[in-house]
Amino acid sequence: MGLALSLSSWTKTAESLEASKNLLYFRQLVGLKIDKRRLASIEARSSAHYMSYLRGPARAEGAPRGLYLMSVAAVGAAGTYRQLLRLYEARSSKIVSRESRYGGAPVTWGSWRQFSANTDDSAARKRVFDDFLGRSGILSPLIKGRFEAYRAKLAEFGTDPLSAYLELEGLSYERLDALVRRLGELAKGPFTEALARYSHEVVGRTAEYFDDFYFFRSRVFKRYSKAAPTREKPIEKVVRTMRRMGLDASKVPVDDTDRKGKSASAFCSGIRIPSDVRISYRRANPFEDFAPVFHEFGHAIHFSSIDPGASFFDRYGVANGVAEVFSIFFEGLVHEKGFLTAELGIPEPAAEDIVDRFRFSSLYFAAFYAANSTLKLGYWHDSPPFESLDGLYSDLTERYLGIRYPGAYWKLHHVMPDYFLYSPSYLVAAVRALELRNDLIGRFGERYWRERGAGARLLELMRPGQSVDLGFSKLDESAYVRSLSAA
Ligand SMILES: [Zn+2]
Repeated sequence: MGLALSLSSWTKTAESLEASKNLLYFRQLVGLKIDKRRLASIEARSSAHYMSYLRGPARAEGAPRGLYLMSVAAVGAAGTYRQLLRLYEARSSKIVSRESRYGGAPVTWGSWRQFSANTDDSAARKRVFDDFLGRSGILSPLIKGRFEAYRAKLAEFGTDPLSAYLELEGLSYERLDALVRRLGELAKGPFTEALARYSHEVVGRTAEYFDDFYFFRSRVFKRYSKAAPTREKPIEKVVRTMRRMGLDASKVPVDDTDRKGKSASAFCSGIRIPSDVRISYRRANPFEDFAPVFHEFGHAIHFSSIDPGASFFDRYGVANGVAEVFSIFFEGLVHEKGFLTAELGIPEPAAEDIVDRFRFSSLYFAAFYAANSTLKLGYWHDSPPFESLDGLYSDLTERYLGIRYPGAYWKLHHVMPDYFLYSPSYLVAAVRALELRNDLIGRFGERYWRERGAGARLLELMRPGQSVDLGFSKLDESAYVRSLSAA
């Protein structure tokens, strides 16, 4: 009784610290000022609070392993958050072009993707790319210091970043490594073919390293950017689609303001789960915004559908490979011909064309994340010197994308330096999201997004948080790649 009572008061404090931290990081990432002294004090209190759990209740027989790992990760994060903030700051203040401008200001790390998506000048894009690669060296000590400090911290608790990650994801190293490699190998052929076809159209030549995933993902839709093929608006449409399935996303706040220090990439943050979940994105053009908006709303409906009575760990300890299932699943709606024609009113020939372009973009994603994931798995598993990572990354881009990238590119990414792992979870979740879709088609038919039963099934999967039943998934990477290769 005494222990149960003290654990419930411990959890209450832990949750309020999580919510305060999450709010400050959200503000930081949307480019608003934050009180750094307040963040320092919350991180210190959070670390002490999780330590009190690790020294006490965590040692009791039958104490949950998940909460133990989450506490270890929180202590590790608190010990390294300063390097993360310095990385954010260096990226927005030092990765700045002296020469090229976007929206009346010099191109920065944050506006880089918008700049690339809005110019036909390959030479200018290459100059910015090379310029930023040249400046990325100042990020190296921050990334290296943080990775090493985190590894050392976790070692104090008898674990390491890779083992803790695999335990939360419920996967063995061998299984995950094999999935990543096999998926990358299977995707390479269809990817290379699609890249050759679309680079001819988009840049009028063979693709090079500076024509990266983010450039193509946007530019391949150029023909739809001036005149949108639909009158529907992404946010309204996703909210209405979810409502028809019996899912309520109408109260999720969306920050779409352009700010100088704002993250280049859309994201969703569960500040207090399930009651306070927010989305941030930078507007591109009405049609291109459908995919990121549907993706982030998938996260938002997931976090806000988790049972408020679920354990603290089930609400805040959701593995990336689970969280990304629901976002990739909802994003997948706009990759479906049936959805484009019936829900967005797009004529059939255009819908077919759009589906093929999304297929290319998914193949690029698969090939790119095979390289990204292999780098991260290899780093934590084999511990090569940090200084050798750029060379390894060049080799991996050549292997999976067929293009040799300057290896420093990974340090300019928005996930690779910010997270200790994460990248492999995208591939795991993409495979599962397809399996979830097929499960819903099997139960509710091809127009599953119109069915309340499909919404109820999703809710059943979202409500338990981390304790989700993944029984619908066999993690079949070859079926996933086949779905992208079918013309
Ligand atoms: Zn996501």
